[in-house]
Amino acid sequence: SYDEFYVKSVIRSLPDWPEPGVLFRDITPIFKDPRALRMVADAFIHRYVDTGITHIACIDARGFLFGSILAHQLNLPLVLVRKKGKLPGDTIHQEYKLEYGSAAVEMQSDSVGAGDRVLLFDDLIATGGTILAACTLIKKLGAEVVEAAALIDLPDLKGSALIQEAGVPVYTLLAYE
Ligand code: 5GP
Repeated sequence: SYDEFYVKSVIRSLPDWPEPGVLFRDITPIFKDPRALRMVADAFIHRYVDTGITHIACIDARGFLFGSILAHQLNLPLVLVRKKGKLPGDTIHQEYKLEYGSAAVEMQSDSVGAGDRVLLFDDLIATGGTILAACTLIKKLGAEVVEAAALIDLPDLKGSALIQEAGVPVYTLLAYE
């Protein structure tokens, strides 16, 4: 069964990466530890089984790793929210602000549409900018974001609160204050 203490013991915290002053929460060790990965995946699968979700949208790149497992286990279609310039065919993109500069996420125009009920998944919520930009794209395509989920929330950065204020429920397994 799910053991928060165990999962947290597997996540690695790296000071001053990718730049000075940032404490990076490294989730890659979870993928080297089948027990931790199974705990995390099962917690999300249990939450979303038989909930009427029609699609899982996952965010480049660590969101892909979890999204793929959830889509397989829930038997749902998986669609990708990628960094701009990676997806072929008709796409729409949304820019968002970073601390310095901006970034953009992109989806294929036919990935979701009217009537679809989407679970949006990423590994971690910091400022919320990435998930909010992805929500904008999904709504532009006519679909509804039923919930935004992530393994980790950094509540001090207030991203999850911002997403909820925008009307999208947020679910995270772990928080680091
Ligand atoms: P936000 O847009 O909420 O500020 O940042 C979240 C995005 O940045 C996510 O896609 C996440 O993968 C990445 N990110 C930011 N900080 C961290 C971190 O400490 N650990 C991990 N694993 N990803 C992070």
